[in-house]
Amino acid sequence: MSLSQVACSIHASPTISLNEEARLLREKGQPVIHLGVGEPKNKTPIAAILGSAAKLNSGDVKYVPTDGTPSLKKAIVRYTEENYDRVAAPQNIIVSDGAKQSLWNILFAILNPQDEVIVLAPYWVSYPEMVHMIGGIPVIVTPEDGSFVPTFEEIERVVGSYTKAIIVNSPNNPSGAIYPEELIARIVNLCESKGIYMICDDIYHKLIFDGKVAVPAYQYTSKDVENTKIIVVNGVAKLYGMTGFRIGWVVAPRKLVEILTNIQSQTTTCVSPVLQAAAEGALTGIQSNVEALRLTMQNNRDILMQEMRSFTAVRCFKPQGTFYAMPDFRAYCGNGLVKNSVELSKFLLNKALVVTVPGKEFGMEAHLRLSYAGTAKDLTEGIDRMKWALDPNAPSDIYIGDRKIVRDWM
Ligand code: PMP
Repeated sequence: MSLSQVACSIHASPTISLNEEARLLREKGQPVIHLGVGEPKNKTPIAAILGSAAKLNSGDVKYVPTDGTPSLKKAIVRYTEENYDRVAAPQNIIVSDGAKQSLWNILFAILNPQDEVIVLAPYWVSYPEMVHMIGGIPVIVTPEDGSFVPTFEEIERVVGSYTKAIIVNSPNNPSGAIYPEELIARIVNLCESKGIYMICDDIYHKLIFDGKVAVPAYQYTSKDVENTKIIVVNGVAKLYGMTGFRIGWVVAPRKLVEILTNIQSQTTTCVSPVLQAAAEGALTGIQSNVEALRLTMQNNRDILMQEMRSFTAVRCFKPQGTFYAMPDFRAYCGNGLVKNSVELSKFLLNKALVVTVPGKEFGMEAHLRLSYAGTAKDLTEGIDRMKWALDPNAPSDIYIGDRKIVRDWM
């Protein structure tokens, strides 16, 4: 079969493949616990449901402007003012089919072949693949000290004449770390002085714990939205747990938004007005859902930390936001049972029916990403099963579903 070399070099999103694997196992009646999932269990906020239902009921569901409905854009202008302390014009905003499409469009809009994009490890799985797809080169910066936050010097060292952008995702998927304010400030400075775009993937910016703050990059520039190199990506997926509505947006200088609009006009025409009405409802309705979701995630984070404490030889950085954690399983990789995080994840699925995502996918070998977006019960049971499968100090028998199983591999 004759196919594009670039297309064939792109891997399936591992997180999405794992969702499918878990679904198929569940369909077969297997008691799978999914700690890989990237979405909260909450119900859609009522204002979002009413907004989209009213649009559907009108029977007037047609093409709308490529860059978003004026009323959703107005809500995003207000959101930007309230949360970023920046005045954005509607021409600074474009709505897309999820933050994923927003990011892809941005990279397509700014990259020439061989241009470089700095990606900070651990990173969201799709950044390097998107850069590849577009003909650019992802330049990965991995913290040398084994932490989840690179130093400014490590980032600065890889900036060269081909550097077009740095992607910053804080709070971070997969680690749950929030980058220190000083680091954000210095990256803003670097980008503005060198003319590099700073793409801020702020999709988790309100899911933060313990009174911490994820300070917007805008705070460190005196330039307005129109003149800065900062590009902000956000959306309703994580903020309101509205993953299935597929609404994301970009705040950027007008010229860039014009190019993004041209790209989108040739690819998707526009985002469904039914789904845009839902996002508008969420943004303009009562915001108690966001706080409820944040508190649930913080509580789940605490449960996870409590469970991890008794997992022999596993170190777990305490997440400061998101709904992910990335414990260090170095002690269990290369010990005879498994060689690396991919094998470890497979081992846990086979033996314990627990879905985890291998750290390798995020540029961090010997780690696993665990999601605590599910129920507290799944979280505790899932980690108990992992301990049973790996930790010699854990009891050697366990119930998985109705079956009592005895560990016989150590
Ligand atoms: N950025 C990050 C860091 C994410 O984790 C995700 C979703 N997993 C996205 C972007 C994409 O969000 P959306 O569902 O709005 O496309």
